[in-house]
Amino acid sequence: MADNPIAMVLHGGAGVLANRSYDPEVAHMHELAGQAKVMLEKGQAALDVVESIVYELEISGLYVAGKGSSPNTDNRYELDAAIMDGTTREAGAVAAMEGYVSPIHAARKVMEETPHVMLAGWGANKLADKYRLEKVDNPASYYKPAAVPDNRPIATGTVGCVALDDKGRLAAATSTGGTLKKTPGRVGDCPLIGSGTWADTEVAISCTGQGEYFIRSLAAGTAAARIRYLHETPDEACRWALKDVKRLGGDGGIIAVGRGGQIAFPYNSEGMKCAVLYPDGRITAGVQDHS
Ligand code: ASP
Repeated sequence: MADNPIAMVLHGGAGVLANRSYDPEVAHMHELAGQAKVMLEKGQAALDVVESIVYELEISGLYVAGKGSSPNTDNRYELDAAIMDGTTREAGAVAAMEGYVSPIHAARKVMEETPHVMLAGWGANKLADKYRLEKVDNPASYYKPAAVPDNRPIATGTVGCVALDDKGRLAAATSTGGTLKKTPGRVGDCPLIGSGTWADTEVAISCTGQGEYFIRSLAAGTAAARIRYLHETPDEACRWALKDVKRLGGDGGIIAVGRGGQIAFPYNSEGMKCAVLYPDGRITAGVQDHS
């Protein structure tokens, strides 16, 4: 075990379908939590861990992000992602990005290689090109959207990861294909710093659910402010933020890790795919309560 607490939470999206097995996702998330543990025990930075875990979630095709994304109503794949370093409060995001394997890698390039926080559409593509990020040559064969019933509620499997490293640094990353059957050009909460993604010196947060409600309630930023100013625990603050989302008519889930290794993963949707690495080294994964 590391001297200072290390911890990590990852999610594969809020909402689960009844009568469907999530065994592959749960096994995959469990394995990734193990990978995060190895990285954090080696002393790797929280920022590198969240980027690497979200990349693995993106390329797996098991969630509605990266390879598993669903097309918009024009049959195009527009993806959003964000990453934030809690120590420096630097952040990078891409919105409605098309044609690249890893939006989270592109978000990190925005953070580190530009003076900006977010690039959208073709501007994000241009940056990805400049840094030779891996392209999707044939969207029709690359993407593997999950089959969903017609009456499926609109939000589903965004991915995200929050981590605390052995130097006390926090970081958050979120990536998504967005909501199912979304309108072309629609951007959700995930790339909006303070809505779907946030990290500071107190807490790192990643949200999932119907993004419009998380934007309108400033979910991640509000939870972080409650921790900073009201001294709530991450669990209390995230539950409060989810209640506000609910008041507006939405639902979803929030994962968070606090600077002392406090873990939170509340949801008010029908379950949330998620895995946890606790400071004592224990790993849990599941789609319902598994603490
Ligand atoms: N929050 C995401 C969005 O609105 C969707 C999700 O979490 O599944 O784009």
